[in-house]
Amino acid sequence: MPRPRSALIALALAGWGLAAWFLWQTEVPDDLRLPHVEPGDAVSAGEERAASDFEEFLRFDFLLSQVAVVGALALYAVFGPRFLRESASGRIGSGMLLAMLGLAFVWIVSIPFSVAELWWSRRHDLSEESYGERVLGGWLALGGEFLFICLAILIVMGLAGPLRDRWWIPGGAVFVGLAGLFTFVYPYLIPEQEPLRDPALSASAREYARDLGVEGVGVRVERVGELTDAPNAEAVGLGPTRRVILWDTLLDPRFSDDEVRVVLAHELGHHARDHLPKSIAWYALFAFPGAFVIARVTRRRGGMRRPEAVPLGLFMLVALNLLALPVQNAITRHLEAEADWVALETTEKPDAARALFARFTTEALADPEPPTWAFVLVDSHPTVVERIAMAEAWAERGGR
Ligand SMILES: [Zn+2]
Repeated sequence: MPRPRSALIALALAGWGLAAWFLWQTEVPDDLRLPHVEPGDAVSAGEERAASDFEEFLRFDFLLSQVAVVGALALYAVFGPRFLRESASGRIGSGMLLAMLGLAFVWIVSIPFSVAELWWSRRHDLSEESYGERVLGGWLALGGEFLFICLAILIVMGLAGPLRDRWWIPGGAVFVGLAGLFTFVYPYLIPEQEPLRDPALSASAREYARDLGVEGVGVRVERVGELTDAPNAEAVGLGPTRRVILWDTLLDPRFSDDEVRVVLAHELGHHARDHLPKSIAWYALFAFPGAFVIARVTRRRGGMRRPEAVPLGLFMLVALNLLALPVQNAITRHLEAEADWVALETTEKPDAARALFARFTTEALADPEPPTWAFVLVDSHPTVVERIAMAEAWAERGGR
């Protein structure tokens, strides 16, 4: 019955487009034109070179690690089902075993790239993490991933038993629910949190939260100073668990109070503009089609109800994630730009914003103007040059 099916597909595509259009809307004025800014306007030539050399290595390390992981999983998709002969567990138990084996394979393949990244960061004094901590931390994370993949296999293979190829419909919903649950509890999983003790900064944070209509969203400081000097902050949580996390590296004399205020307003801006629920909605827009594609492709192995389809499913999952990366980066850059705009509107401190963004290059070695391919593939934030240009554009418009 071709007609009802194509109507259904058209309807789904239209719904997807409409949802994406709504999610794409931001407070950044449509007619905002960013002035041309050169890296040299913000940092010295030496600082620019140091940052771009630093990031170049990390980009290639990342790209090679992705090639290695996808290559390893492609091999595993072909040869993995052979391990099934050794397994005496039931259908879902065998599927879990194959998934864990695939994950362990990915983990081993990733170690050299992770160690290379740490070596490079330590060489540039951006990390004080030891190699042991990296590998041990990797072990703990691997344990978490094992638990998650077992749960995911339980859900998918459990649903695929009775539903066959239609598991992706409730399956997609369950994964979106899990993403929401994880976002909700994540603030409690961050270690080493303490209150923001600076009275002036706390007062500003409360004032901004009030202005932005997110009263009650508090600020916590995460102690990372023993692991890294790099500055960072994040907006975490959903609804009642929402909070702003500032790394203690931002609270040292390198950064002026006004620069920290810009960070606070940026993170509160993420909450005020509902960026975390929106990110979950974006995730849904990718999770359903992704699950659908996995369901279709794994049919040649009997579908996801069969354990021998698990290695192919794992390969598809990782390959699809990689393919979606440029689009997902474009989405997060768009949200980050809005948070910057909200920070400018809230603090009215474009000079502090410019100084802060320039410091991402001098203190965290962020390439002020990365090559386009790297920007598209790797960068989840606007470039330093673009962020400075937005601060200038805001000032040129005379504020509000
Ligand atoms: Zn942000």
